[in-house]
Amino acid sequence: MNHPLPDDFSQLTDQQWAERLSAEEFRVLRQAGTEAPGTGEYTDTDTQGVYSCRACGAELFRSDTKFHSGCGWPSFFSPADSDAVVLRPDHSLGRTRTEVICANCHSHLGHVFSGEGFDTPTDQRYCINSICLDLHPTTDDA
Ligand SMILES: [Zn+2]
Repeated sequence: MNHPLPDDFSQLTDQQWAERLSAEEFRVLRQAGTEAPGTGEYTDTDTQGVYSCRACGAELFRSDTKFHSGCGWPSFFSPADSDAVVLRPDHSLGRTRTEVICANCHSHLGHVFSGEGFDTPTDQRYCINSICLDLHPTTDDA
């Protein structure tokens, strides 16, 4: 059986998204909300695996780019693939930030910050809400 998902997520209405997601998932993913810092299930997770979009299942990040930023949200220094996410300017809150959205379904994921001095290969911090992600642990017996 195929997973009962549409091929084109841009066709989904807010009503359909609301039926697919929990109220809090809908608030963050579809209304660009933010979960409270330090509350997300993946903030300090070190499990090896792949993080996919909770809204559509697309692969977004891998555990080998995850690092401890201390900011209260899961932090990655790079997406799994440069085509996995789309960046766009966000002028809310009276300052310019860079919003990170899923390239496949255009759901909000979080923001990316650069040049903060973290000791990572890119010095970028993809600050992603846990509730936007699903972790699929990697098994050792591959
Ligand atoms: Zn998605």
